Order: sequence, then structure tokens, then C-alpha cells
Amino acid sequence: MTYIGRFAPSPTGPLHFGSLFTAIASYLDAKANLGKWLLRIEDIDTPRVMPGATNQILSILDAYGLHWDGEVVYQHQQTAYYQQLLSQLKDKHRAYGCQCSRKEIAEIAHAGVEGPVYPGTCRQQTVSQVRAWRFAMEGAEISFEDQIQGTQHYDIAKSLGDFVLFRADGLVAYQLAVVADDHQAGVTHIVRGIDLIHSTPRQMQLQTALGFTTPMYSHLPIIVSSSGQKLSKQNLATPVTDENPLITWHQVLDLLNQAPPAISEFDSLSSLIDWAISHWNIEKIPKAGEIIERR
Ligand code: GLU
Repeated sequence: MTYIGRFAPSPTGPLHFGSLFTAIASYLDAKANLGKWLLRIEDIDTPRVMPGATNQILSILDAYGLHWDGEVVYQHQQTAYYQQLLSQLKDKHRAYGCQCSRKEIAEIAHAGVEGPVYPGTCRQQTVSQVRAWRFAMEGAEISFEDQIQGTQHYDIAKSLGDFVLFRADGLVAYQLAVVADDHQAGVTHIVRGIDLIHSTPRQMQLQTALGFTTPMYSHLPIIVSSSGQKLSKQNLATPVTDENPLITWHQVLDLLNQAPPAISEFDSLSSLIDWAISHWNIEKIPKAGEIIERR
């Protein structure tokens, strides 16, 4: 099987250190497995898309030697495809109209692993005004094996609940768009930040409902400082510039616990990247919560 990986930034701002960390890890995992590394710009959340951010992201990736395979996919061009998948889910009775307002949801929902858990109120009733299309989760439990974080286990009703696929105004939700695009591109391995780990069981149920294959998942740790503190949003959100890509690459390799030789050993960015590909070991990446120091 050919490995197909991807990096899928949202152009809501310039590429920051946390995203570069994900870009480099996903790139190395793909290249060390003789795979392809695709690039998808997740620009569906149009009001939050920042003009110029896409170009900045593309030029930083280029300056960092992170050359993607094939054409860049833009989610804003995929709406018809997402609509078609929504129809399939409706036909299979896995998507239903929900009329609950945000306020009503806050009253009926309990807290899950990530936001409120919608108890499925509209699943059993005919709604007069569809505010959103929701996915009907099935079964009591779901587990998956994460290549970095190990076995993950969820109680569906307690922790996840039914989630939104599409808003009535036609805006597709992240979960459906990601599953659709990863499938269309034949993605086999997903390496992304741990902030998305609770989306994985939802995406897995969507894949199964649509007859898609579930890829392998690896969720990268959050970056914490040597004192054990999570690096502040501010710190992580510092835009990456194209100055000194060699130094920043080296720093990322260090954070990924790949033990790179001293920076003076490398005479070019490409020699460091070659070293990183040939010495890549995903098992060395610290788990979430383990301290990884930023120099
Ligand atoms: N667009 C998402 C982000 O920038 C990543 C989506 C994914 O990797 O599944 O956080």
C-alpha cells in the first residue's frame, strides 16, 4: 500500500510555530514511508479566512523545503461534493434535520470531551425549521489505536453525541469536509495535532457510514516548555518567517525528540531534511503531557 499523508492548514492567519510543527511531522512520516505528502487548504469557514494567509502558508512551506505532491486542494471548491455526501447520509438515515437553537442545546446538552453533547432530541421528530443537519452516531462505544497516543476509547452517548454536518445556510462543518477530502485524495495516514483527537471517533463513524476506509491516526503532543507549562497561545501563534528555516527545523526535530546532531553538522537545509527523513522514528515522539522543551 502506498502511504498518502497530508497537511491541512486553515488559512485563518499566517502559519505559526504550532502548525509548522504539524507540517514537519506529517511530512517526515510520509517521506520516511516513501509516501506522498499532499496539501489541502481548509478554507470553508469563509468568514474566518484571512486574505493573504493562503499565499503566506504556501510560501513558508516552500521556504522550509516542505514541497507537497500534486495540486493543492481548496475546500471552498468542493461544496457540491459535500452536498452529495450529505444526501447519501440522509438516504441512509444517518443525517437528520435539527431545529434546536444554541440556547436550547445549552439547556439539554451535558458536557462531553469537547463541548456540549447533543442528546439527539430532533432525531425522533419531524422538525419545522431545519437549523442544521446532524449526523446520527451509532452504537455505545468506539475505540481506535493512535500511533503516538496509544488506544483511545470513547463512550458515545456520554462523551460525543450527534454532531453537525451542515448548517442550514449551506456551510459545511469541519468533520464532513475532512472525511470527504481525505477519502477523495486516498489519504492513508493522518498526522495532526492532539487538539483534534476527539474528532477522530466522529470521523471514523462518518467514514463507515459513507463506505470509506479509515486511515491510520497519529496525534502529535502539545508543546510544553521545560518548566512543564504549555506554551502560550501567543508563543505558539507567532507567525513563522522565512528567516533561518534551518534553525527552526532543528528546533522542531528536537521537540519531536528525534535527537538531531548539532546544527553545525549540516551545511544546508536539504542536508538536514535528508537526515531527518532517514532517521525518522515516530515512536520517539513524546506523548501528550510529557515535557518537551523548546530551546
Ligand atoms: N484544518 C485543521 C487545522 O488547521 C486541521 C484539520 C486536520 O488535520 O484534520 O487545525
